[in-house]
Amino acid sequence: MSTELVQTIAEIRQLLEPIRSSQTIGLVPTMGALHEGHGSLIQQARKETDCLVVSIFVNPLQFGPRDDYTRYPRTPEADLDFCSRLDVDLIFEPEVEEMYPTPSLSTVEVTRITDHLCGPFRPGHFTGVATVVAKLFQIIQPQRAYFGEKDAQQLSVIERMVSDLNLGVTVVAVPTVRESDGLAVSSRNQYLSPQERALAPVLYRALQVAQQAIAEGVLDSGKVQKRALAVLEQEQSVTVEYLEIVDPEEMQPVERITGPVRVAGAIRIGATRLIDNLLTAP
Ligand code: AMP
Repeated sequence: MSTELVQTIAEIRQLLEPIRSSQTIGLVPTMGALHEGHGSLIQQARKETDCLVVSIFVNPLQFGPRDDYTRYPRTPEADLDFCSRLDVDLIFEPEVEEMYPTPSLSTVEVTRITDHLCGPFRPGHFTGVATVVAKLFQIIQPQRAYFGEKDAQQLSVIERMVSDLNLGVTVVAVPTVRESDGLAVSSRNQYLSPQERALAPVLYRALQVAQQAIAEGVLDSGKVQKRALAVLEQEQSVTVEYLEIVDPEEMQPVERITGPVRVAGAIRIGATRLIDNLLTAP
């Protein structure tokens, strides 16, 4: 079956209604500019669900005034080809006016999990994400929804929202897809100049240094952090936003590493912001 492009809420509901009782519906929410990272989510979802919906929506609510909303890459034709090749059933690609016909007076705010890491650097971002994902869950009503571990804090926010609000969706976490030099694949990588692109894997290298230190038995987070920061500080054109060691569920900083932790970092290279993380344990 070929991939069908749907732009309105009424139409996607109409298409899904008759199959709902007999088929498992899977959702992969994206902002488009699809790449191998999204491909991995789609492939896993394809194996586990009968009817696979990929949503493509650059959600203005999750971008701050200084973020890259207007310049965020938009590649609708390539995305349609990409989804067709991976046997996606439906692409839901609404206009902003379809999703937000009037300004949202109702939002979903997940607290605590958003206090650290990207939270303080992107005020309102996770409320924008949680709100749009809640809306997509209401519109599509999938049994299963797929999210990348690359955005680990986002994944925790969604898992907690689903559990706190009894949304009844199984959230599936998919491992991060990387380029051969370790850089996490991201739509934002295309902003990087060739020189910046060459520097970008430093974030993954720093996370690996932290992972190695923890594996060797360095259990004081401050010491682990120092080793990883030393890697980042070797590159003068890299600005560090944060490099933290947090618990994997609530993303709270840990002082002493006694179990699994996520080492997460955000850097800026020129105008481009990159994030990455690794799950690790002593
Ligand atoms: P985005 O289009 O950037 O909002 O991403 C849509 C989904 O794809 C999110 O759940 C991301 O975590 C996931 N994703 C993005 N990049 C990667 C990657 N390199 N590996 C795995 N998942 C990814």
